[in-house]
Amino acid sequence: MAVRIFVDFDGTITNEDVGNSFFRTFGGPSCDRIVREYREGRISAVDCFLQEAAEVGSFNPDDARQFFRSQPIDESIHSLIEFSRNRGYEVTVLSDGLDLYLSEILGVNRLKHIPFYSNIAECVPDRAGSASLKLDFPHTDAECPRCACCKRNIMMTDCSDTDVIVLVGEGHSDTCPAAFADIVFAKSYLQTFCQRENISYFPYQSFHDVVDRLAGMSESGRGLKQGTRARLRRQELFRTE
Ligand SMILES: [Mg+2]
Repeated sequence: MAVRIFVDFDGTITNEDVGNSFFRTFGGPSCDRIVREYREGRISAVDCFLQEAAEVGSFNPDDARQFFRSQPIDESIHSLIEFSRNRGYEVTVLSDGLDLYLSEILGVNRLKHIPFYSNIAECVPDRAGSASLKLDFPHTDAECPRCACCKRNIMMTDCSDTDVIVLVGEGHSDTCPAAFADIVFAKSYLQTFCQRENISYFPYQSFHDVVDRLAGMSESGRGLKQGTRARLRRQELFRTE
């Protein structure tokens, strides 16, 4: 049995949604319309990214790098990383964003060693000093268009039957995996969603709250355990595939 902690990136590790800010800053206000169409279910997550990248067109990669490096993070993530290292828990970042900025932001914040899954964005030079985005989506689900990077599938394939799965998140792309995680930490939209869908969760403001709760649970004598409902949902998922 291992404890696996999966952490969302945009709005959870970073204070803002870096993906949305990047596309709005470099692609203009039409990106807001594209995101709205996605939220209304009229286009898939992949189409949303492709249309936004087209709006960005040609851009200066140095400007983008500077933009990414200036994005503030929740510094309390370091407390979760240290706590997990001491306990032998494995932390993985799951993001429906782009590796282009995840690697930059994790790197500049001494978090380069944390493994992550995300969509792929490559800067392809198009003329002197500028580049355009080439996107790749290696973690799509064959049937569900809601996310480009399917966090649920990654969690399922990355964990064994006996692992205890912890999810820390806040947004739309965390709602689906929340039903399959044993222990959920939720804020913002994810908290509202869990309340509405009757999914057990712990509210949190910073990663200190997550550490305190996990420490309390593991020292209570009960230890960290799988949740009955989440385990049944995982078994059901494997049966129907
Ligand atoms: Mg998020």
